[in-house]
Amino acid sequence: MTVYKPLASLFLLVSIPCSLHAQSQTPAPSPKVFGYANFAAQAKIEEKFLSVPDAKLAGQHLKILTAEPHLAATPEDHRTAEYVAQKFRAAGLDTQIVPYRVLLNQPRVVRVEAYDAAGKLLMTGPAREHVDNDPGQDNPRVVMPFNGSSGSGDVTGEVVYANYGRLEDFNELAAQHIDLHGKIVIARYGSNFRGVKVYLAEQRGAIGVLIYSDPQDDGYYKGDAYPVGPWRPETGVQRGSVQYLFKYAGDPETPGVASTLDLPDSARIKNFVGPDGNRPGIISIPLSYHDAAPILQALKGPGVPQEGWQGALPFRYHLGPGGVKVHLVSEQDYQRRVIWDVIGTIKGSTYPDEWVVAGNHRDAWVYGAVDPSSGTAAMLESVHGIGALLEQGWRPKRTIVFCSWDAEEQGLVGSTEWVEEHAQALERAVAYFNVDVAVSGPDFSASAVPSLKEFVRDVTRAVSSPLGGTVYEGWRLRQHGSDGEHRADNSMLNAPLSGEEVSVGDLGSGSDFTPFLQHVGVPSTDVSSGGPYGVYHSTFDDFAWYTQNADPHFAYLQQMARVLGLEALRMADADVLPFDYVTYSREISAYIEAAMKKAQDAGLGSLDFAPAEAAAGRMANAARKMQAKELAASGDLVRLNQALRQTEAGFISSAGLPDRPWYRHTIYAPGEFTGYSAVVVPGVNEAIDAHNRDLAAAQLTVLTQALDRATRALDSAN
Ligand SMILES: [Zn+2]
Repeated sequence: MTVYKPLASLFLLVSIPCSLHAQSQTPAPSPKVFGYANFAAQAKIEEKFLSVPDAKLAGQHLKILTAEPHLAATPEDHRTAEYVAQKFRAAGLDTQIVPYRVLLNQPRVVRVEAYDAAGKLLMTGPAREHVDNDPGQDNPRVVMPFNGSSGSGDVTGEVVYANYGRLEDFNELAAQHIDLHGKIVIARYGSNFRGVKVYLAEQRGAIGVLIYSDPQDDGYYKGDAYPVGPWRPETGVQRGSVQYLFKYAGDPETPGVASTLDLPDSARIKNFVGPDGNRPGIISIPLSYHDAAPILQALKGPGVPQEGWQGALPFRYHLGPGGVKVHLVSEQDYQRRVIWDVIGTIKGSTYPDEWVVAGNHRDAWVYGAVDPSSGTAAMLESVHGIGALLEQGWRPKRTIVFCSWDAEEQGLVGSTEWVEEHAQALERAVAYFNVDVAVSGPDFSASAVPSLKEFVRDVTRAVSSPLGGTVYEGWRLRQHGSDGEHRADNSMLNAPLSGEEVSVGDLGSGSDFTPFLQHVGVPSTDVSSGGPYGVYHSTFDDFAWYTQNADPHFAYLQQMARVLGLEALRMADADVLPFDYVTYSREISAYIEAAMKKAQDAGLGSLDFAPAEAAAGRMANAARKMQAKELAASGDLVRLNQALRQTEAGFISSAGLPDRPWYRHTIYAPGEFTGYSAVVVPGVNEAIDAHNRDLAAAQLTVLTQALDRATRALDSAN
């Protein structure tokens, strides 16, 4: 699924200095590396590993994985599971295909008709996705455009345009006294998670939602459309899940419980539809701009606000209602279907119960060349590299687990069910490393919990970039520019940075790190290499698009294989877990300060933030003491590592967030109104947003207790 990010690549057009091109060799690893008492021996292992991932082989994996559409729970999906399992086994991993039975929809009928005020037919759709000369588009196994988790039904109504379907957009409609009861909302993709658009529309009484791709956001307004360029063509549709993921992830019938094949029906819940559940009760249908244009053009009512509502279609947009009625038919075939995760394990020699987990989903809406097969191709070459070490007799100190998740697109289902099944063992897992949309271009970026931000930078300092120099250097150059001036191209930037350090984003949701971090508290990272990418979740995200636009020589697959594999390798063998709690506590203090300011602005100035601030201060002190011990890397390392791991676990509150107990992390959650991007100290911030003073006060106490648990964990190494 993953985030559709505003592309930082616009800034890559600055030229890279020639000096970088000169150093094309893998740079020598620095002798002093965080987490290692003496890095010399590990440096040799890493060098061997880095020499193995192969661009050509990665390209072959990609070609095979994208040969057929492989929607979750289809025979083609199972074939990709077998391919991945075969490669895992060939590399020496103890490998299992793990099935779960989960509730998923597949579309039987999806139809949209629009009529003008006189009853004249304006359009019927969805039109078939088609461009000149795309080799994959005519395959009968290409699933018709639909939304995962859509309701079924047959409704007719007047239309209202809701821009991006953000909370502020719906507030603007309310301010203009536009009532949504009985209406069909048309909103454009972008800015937030599509499930949020449907959630807000359903809460306001809408009976259906159309979500379309405006050319302003990922079409001709950005550049040439496929097949000339990388952007979305006229008929390209973004499929995607509209599950209320921000309530809980995974199988809607089994929050907190694994949907194993033997799970009895009595263990499944029944009431999960509607705004209080995790699935819309109303119809949602995705559209191309080819299909949306006649509806928007006929729409009457007030003109859209001057700022930020007009898209790139060649006419003035109006809010409605009036001028057009649409008839929606959606027949969704909901069944419990079997999905297949592939799990490959290398048992650790010294700390077998401490797992280092790396994963990527495998299911795709259609061919999924970028999303997710570029991640799978890269991961298979990471595994190839680790396998070469195994062949030479090497064993990791900690257990490494590689995972190929299924049904991520439907709501992080495969990863969530596996995490729920292994929740207890995962209390001792040291890290989860995710990839998803691994390669759509050359622009590296990463998100992580603050304790792993420096770790990710360190790993990228050891991997060469196809542009010359290291991945880290290219990443830094793009963020800061060659003149050393900070560029405002990273919307994730919110942490105080020392000097000109590369900023690493915060983890919200939209991919498989969510159950690991936000349900059970495993420190996580997510990495990707981005570029202009306008075919997300359409049939055109295929091998032909990929080789034309993203990575013709698969050099970036190789790069991402090295980054992901090195994350696993370096974490698995570390003497001391390279967790940076000094940065973490500094970021938490900044979050608390920002929340306090927000409370004051919201007229909740009497809320007492002092205990939480003091707790963050205590954690900062404990973290500084811990850092000195980590750098020394001597003494009782088992105890030290245990303390380091338990610190993140301290942030987990067993009660979970108010109204969404599955989300248990007190520092990070997906925003209820953003879905993808993180809301920090979510219990507190969301209570302030809701102007609920009592709840905010209670959540400040929960936060203070969590910080104190983390501090006790840090202190336990003394
Ligand atoms: Zn994905």
